[in-house]
Amino acid sequence: MIQKMASHIVGYPRMGPKRELKFALESFWDKKSSAEDLQKVAADLRSSIWKQMSDAGIKYIPSNTFSYYDQVLDATSMLGAVPPRYGWNGGEIGFDTYFSMARGNASVPAMEMTKWFDTNYHFIVPELGPDVNFSYASHKAVDEYKEAKALGVNTVPVLIGPVSYLLLSKPAKGVEKTFSLLSLLPKILPIYKEVISELKAAGASWIQFDEPTLVLDLDSHKLQAFTAAYDYLESTLSGLNVLIETYFADLTAEAYKTLIGLKGVTAYGLDLVRGAQTLDLVKSNFPKGKYLFAGVVDGRNIWANDLAASFSTLKELEAVVGKENLVVSTSCSLLHTAVDLVNETKLDDEIKSWLAFAAQKVVEVNALAKALAGQKDEAFFSANAAAQASRKSSPRVTNEAVQKAAAALKGSDHRRATNVSARLDAQQKKLNLPILPTTTIGSFPQTLELRRVRREFKANKISEDDYIKAIKEEIKKVVDLQEELDIDVLVHGEPERNDMVEYFGEQLSGFAFTVNGWVQSYGSRCVKPPIIYGDVSRPKPMTVFWSSTAQSMTARPMKGMLTGPVTILNWSFVRNDQPRFETCYQIALAIKDEVEDLEKAGINVIQIDEAALREGLPLRKSEHAFYLKWAVHSFRITNCGVQDTTQIHTHMCYSNFNDIIHSIIDMDADVITIENSRSDEKLLSVFREGVKYGAGIGPGVYDIHSPRIPSTEEIADRINKMLAVLETNILWVNPDCGLKTRKYAEVKPALNNMVAAAKLLRTQL
Ligand code: GLN
Ligand code: ZN
Repeated sequence: MIQKMASHIVGYPRMGPKRELKFALESFWDKKSSAEDLQKVAADLRSSIWKQMSDAGIKYIPSNTFSYYDQVLDATSMLGAVPPRYGWNGGEIGFDTYFSMARGNASVPAMEMTKWFDTNYHFIVPELGPDVNFSYASHKAVDEYKEAKALGVNTVPVLIGPVSYLLLSKPAKGVEKTFSLLSLLPKILPIYKEVISELKAAGASWIQFDEPTLVLDLDSHKLQAFTAAYDYLESTLSGLNVLIETYFADLTAEAYKTLIGLKGVTAYGLDLVRGAQTLDLVKSNFPKGKYLFAGVVDGRNIWANDLAASFSTLKELEAVVGKENLVVSTSCSLLHTAVDLVNETKLDDEIKSWLAFAAQKVVEVNALAKALAGQKDEAFFSANAAAQASRKSSPRVTNEAVQKAAAALKGSDHRRATNVSARLDAQQKKLNLPILPTTTIGSFPQTLELRRVRREFKANKISEDDYIKAIKEEIKKVVDLQEELDIDVLVHGEPERNDMVEYFGEQLSGFAFTVNGWVQSYGSRCVKPPIIYGDVSRPKPMTVFWSSTAQSMTARPMKGMLTGPVTILNWSFVRNDQPRFETCYQIALAIKDEVEDLEKAGINVIQIDEAALREGLPLRKSEHAFYLKWAVHSFRITNCGVQDTTQIHTHMCYSNFNDIIHSIIDMDADVITIENSRSDEKLLSVFREGVKYGAGIGPGVYDIHSPRIPSTEEIADRINKMLAVLETNILWVNPDCGLKTRKYAEVKPALNNMVAAAKLLRTQL
C-alpha cells in the first residue's frame, strides 16, 4: 500500500489521452453506437484516471470532474433547471434531454455557450428565471463517487459551488432586465443539501466546491451571497471536510476575507501560479487549523514545474499554515492542459524534458508533497533541475538578435506616419474602389479533396510540385468565382492553411507542435495549441508566394492574409519564462517583416486578423488597460512601416466590442471587418452614441455560421440600417467571418445576393 502524501488534483481532462471520449460521443450522436457503448468508454476513462492518480500517490483525488459535455451543464441537470422548451417531464435526466440542451435537437436549438473565464473552454450557460422548478434530477455526483469507491478509490466529489453557478447563469428570456439571479439561492440550496447528504451517506469524507467566481471583481452584495450560502449549508456539511476551490486569478483582499470567513469550510484551494498577491494574503492572515490547498503546479500550461522554486514557496507556506495543514495542489483543473506527454512521438527529447502535461503534473504534485513530508525523490528533483537549466540556456530558446529588437520596443510607440483619412484618400487613388466596396474575410470552403491534398503533402505522399499545382488550381477557382460574382477586393481563399495559427507557427522559429496535445474547447471539440518555447523569428517569407501567385491571376486588388500577433499568442501555449507582452512583441516583429515583404511583392491590401484580441482580456478590470495597451501596440508594430497607399485591414470575430471600442480605434487599421450577424443593434449603438470612427468598417452583413442563404432584400435592409449610423464612404460590405466551414452551394448564392445588395444601394445613394 502506497502511503498517501498531502496531494490534491483540482480536476482532470475527460477526453482521454487519444480523445477516446470525443470519438465515442460523436459515434453515439451519429447513431453508430449505443448509449451503453458510450457509457463503457466513459467508465473506462474514469477508472483509468482514478487509478493513475491513486498509483501516483495522490491523496485527494477528485470525482465528478468527468463530464459527457460540460460540468456546468451537469450542475444544471443536478438542479433540474431544464428550460421548458426541451420538453423534459421530470425524473432522472437522461442522454436525450442532456444532449438536447447541449447541442439542440431537430426542433429546438442548443442552449447558449460561452467562454469559461479566460480559458478556451466553453460552458453551457444556465438560463434561469423566477419560474424554474428546481429538483434533484441528476445523481451523477453521487454515482461517480460510488463508482470510484467500488474501485477502491475514496474520492473528493466536486460540485460547482452554488454561488458561482448562479453568477455564471443568465436570466431567462423575458426577464433579462429585471431578474436577480442571486435571488434563486434559497431555491437551489435545498438541492445542494440533498446531494451533500447522499454523498455523506455514501461515505464521502471530503467535498470540493468550485467557486472560481470569487476571483472576479465582485461587489459586497455578491460577496455576501457566499456567506449566506455556506451559512445555510453549514449544518448539512458538518462531519465533512469542505474545500472551497478558487482559481484563475488573485483574490481581492475582500474576497479573501469572505472566503476565510465562510462557515463550515475547512480548506481553501488557491491558485498560486496566477495569484502572486494571494500568497501575501495567506502570509498575512491564515485561519488556525484550516487547510491550505496550495495550487503551485500550473493547470493552464504545458511546462514542467520548477520544483525547486515550488518547494521553497511551499516551505514558506508551511511555516504559516502548519505542516499538517498544507496540501500540494494544481492551480486549477488540469482540463486546460494537454493530457499525456507519453503520446508525443514527434517532439525531440530536449523539448520533451521541458514539458509536463496533465499526467506528468499529477506526478509533480505528488513529488512535491513527498518532499514536504521529508521523502524527497532526489533523482526526480535533480532531473527536473537539469531540465530547467537546459531550458534556460538552450540556444534554441534564445535568439540574441530577437531579444535585442524586442527590448528596443519597450517604452516606444509605433504609428503610421499619416492619419487615417489622408491614408484612405491615398489608397482610394490607387485602388479606385466603388462606394460600399465588397470583400470577404479570407477563407473559402475547404473541400474534402483539399484536405486530402494537404494531408498527403504533409505525409510526403505527393510531391511538392503536385501540391503547388493543386493549390494553385484551387486559388484560380476561387479567384475566378470572385470575379464572376463581381467582388471588389479579392482573397485567395486560404486553401494552403489548416488553421490560421498553426500555419504561421509552423513557419516561425520558436514554435513546437504536438501530435496529441489536445485540449477540450467545448463538447467533443478539442484544439491543439502550438507551443511557443523560444524567441520567435521568421526565417523566410510565409505567405508571399501564394499571395503574389493569386494577385497575378487578377487585375483586382488581392488581399494578403495574415494572422496577427495577439491572436497567435492567445491561441498558443506560451512561454512562462518571460511576460506575455514580450512574446507578443517578438511575434509582431516577425509579422511586420511579412507585411513589408507582401508590400514589396505588390500586394496593396493586407489583412491582419486579430480574431482573438478581445478574448485575451484579463479577468480583472484593473488589468485591462495594460493588456490592451501592449496588444494594440503589437498590432500597430506589424504595419507601422508600410506606405500610405497600402491598405491595412483587420478582422475580429465578435460583436461585443463596445467596451474596447477605443482600443480598436487605436489599432489604427484602415479597414476593420467584424462579426455582427447576431447583434446589429449592439454594435451600431456604439456609433449611435457618438463614438467617432473615421476608418473603413465592414460589419458582417450575414451570418456564416448558418447554412441559411440570406436574400438580397434582407442584406440591403441591413446595410441600410448601418448607413443610418455610419458614413457612406467608410462602409464596407462583407460576410461575418471566413467561409471555410460552408459549402459552395451556400457560399455562391449568398455572396451573389450580397454583391447585388451593394449594387442596389449604390444606385440609390
Ligand atoms: N481569415 C480567416 C478566415 O477567413 C479569419 C478566421 C477567423 O476570423 N476566425 O478563415
Ligand atoms: Zn472571424
